[in-house]
Amino acid sequence: MRKKLAAGNWKMNGLSEALSELSGMEEAAKGDAEVLICPPATLVAAAAGAASGIAIGGQDCHAAASGAHTGDISATMLKDVGASYVILGHSERRTDHDEHDEDVRAKCAAAWEAGLSVVLCVGESLDEREASNTLDIIGGQLAGSIPDGATGHNLVVAYEPIWAIGTGKVPTNDQIGEVHDFMRARLEKRFGEGVGRSVRLLYGGSVKPGNASEIFAVSNVDGALVGGASLKASDFVPIIEALN
Ligand code: PGA
Repeated sequence: MRKKLAAGNWKMNGLSEALSELSGMEEAAKGDAEVLICPPATLVAAAAGAASGIAIGGQDCHAAASGAHTGDISATMLKDVGASYVILGHSERRTDHDEHDEDVRAKCAAAWEAGLSVVLCVGESLDEREASNTLDIIGGQLAGSIPDGATGHNLVVAYEPIWAIGTGKVPTNDQIGEVHDFMRARLEKRFGEGVGRSVRLLYGGSVKPGNASEIFAVSNVDGALVGGASLKASDFVPIIEALN
């Protein structure tokens, strides 16, 4: 049985006062689903100290463990201050920082080396979907971004259609199910049935309290990666509860 996961991606949002939202999530985090919050790098250490029963993650890491890389942080540094996860390959990183599959793959290897679990993001653009290229794009990103050595513990994959992020648009249940079933099959083929079946698959893109239950009923959806609706406990708690 895969443990359900409610993951929050705070992106570039949150000053110190945002940490108070974590206490509002703690009660819901005592349920069956695992709860993860990925605050901005400035809050990772404080969040890890403040949050009881909530896993904390980074939103990116460098592929090197240390060195002359001004402005970057390493997976080892995230681990050192209490993170247990890192989001990698988010479409905003792929676009804003020109990250390609090979960059994501190197970062993923570094995260595993440091002992972090990775929430790896994949997803197609609207043009790619309209050209019926969705599964090709997702298959290519899975093959290119994940190093050898995946396990059900060190890898979570989040399917985030780029056109659904922050837009209020959500794919149909059939569209989500098609991609999730495809990802499951690809992971089983590459890593073997045992590992492939144990990797959790999240849906991400405009998940809200009002649509979470419906999305969680889709086959092979093991939880969600939530942006905007993870910033406030009042929005995120109902999403966690929909998984509990
Ligand atoms: P959203 O973002 O929930 O605000 O659409 C999701 C994400 O980018 O992870």
